[in-house]
Amino acid sequence: MTALIDPFQRKIEYLRVSVTDKCNYRCSYCMPEQGAHPEGNHTEYLSYDEITRIVKVFSELGVWKIRLTGGEPLIRKNLHQLAQQISVLPNVKDIALSTNAERLADQAQALKDAGVTRTNISLDTLDPIKFERITRGGNLAKVLAGIDAAFAVGMTPVKVNMVVMKDTNFEDIPAMLDYAIAKGINLRFIETMPIGGAGISVMGEHVSAEQILAKVKAHVGADLLPMLDKQEAGPARVYRISGSKAKIGVISAVSQHFCETCNRVRLTARGELALCLGQEDMIDLRTPLRAGISDDQLKAIIVDAIARKPERHHFNENRHNIQFRQMVSLGG
Ligand code: SAM
Ligand code: SF4
Repeated sequence: MTALIDPFQRKIEYLRVSVTDKCNYRCSYCMPEQGAHPEGNHTEYLSYDEITRIVKVFSELGVWKIRLTGGEPLIRKNLHQLAQQISVLPNVKDIALSTNAERLADQAQALKDAGVTRTNISLDTLDPIKFERITRGGNLAKVLAGIDAAFAVGMTPVKVNMVVMKDTNFEDIPAMLDYAIAKGINLRFIETMPIGGAGISVMGEHVSAEQILAKVKAHVGADLLPMLDKQEAGPARVYRISGSKAKIGVISAVSQHFCETCNRVRLTARGELALCLGQEDMIDLRTPLRAGISDDQLKAIIVDAIARKPERHHFNENRHNIQFRQMVSLGG
């Protein structure tokens, strides 16, 4: 099997698949209040069969790890059908989901049955009023029910992602830690990233991983134990909490980037292949796919694209580097 190795000797084994760039939330750091971009009509989005075909070709090139994301993936109808189609591909070993969880309670069992084994859930505060403000209309009770449902059906580990903002939710870190410890959640603190207008707008509230860790240590003290498990960590620095199943991760995309171990690319809902979260360059797969190319031709396009994967992002050198992209289209 041809493996996907980029010019910096990184092996690409992970494809993040955005199934929609629409969302029922408008998180301040991700989406402008009025929505991110003109919504596409139905035909602009890849169908489940088209996504499955692209994933199949990637899987024949060594990609075995898939994440379904968005926008909000659970607003796309019958997402479990896509999971089912992908899960039967012989080389796919792992299907995960990223969601805001507002609709997870209703769909968790169907998704688990279709092969989604674990989930990442966005949650930035446990204060319902603040939650509604950050998400511009989100319902905290439904999200907490979604988290409980993920545990109930065994979509584990359940990871909760908290984007930390200095004047908005930095003070909520202790309460989030207590919640994670009580539930056995894998809680990951994420630095704000300057992606799109919304991301750039919250960079004034950026908190570094070191400041986040100091706040965590002040709350849990000696119970915070560093872990060395690279497989578990991905781009995060991971700790466990003694006496609890909870784990704590800190993702320092900006203050200390982890590009040298990058193993992923992203497929947008409109069929573009994004080679790096922090660079504008994308390759259109939808047009050739719809023109009727063979799997071998699609493979060749993907191999050529990986040869163009940039070495790293430039968030620190140029905060306006990626103002024309939206996190909601890239899938995080
Ligand atoms: N709607 C789903 C969710 O919220 O989990 C999936 C898509 S969302 C774009 C994926 C991840 O991107 C979320 O964890 C979210 O917190 C993160 N994200 C969005 N904008 C961000 C930003 N400017 N900086 C850091 N993380 C961001
Ligand atoms: Fe929607 Fe997720 Fe972006 Fe929030 S972070 S606006 S839930 S896509």
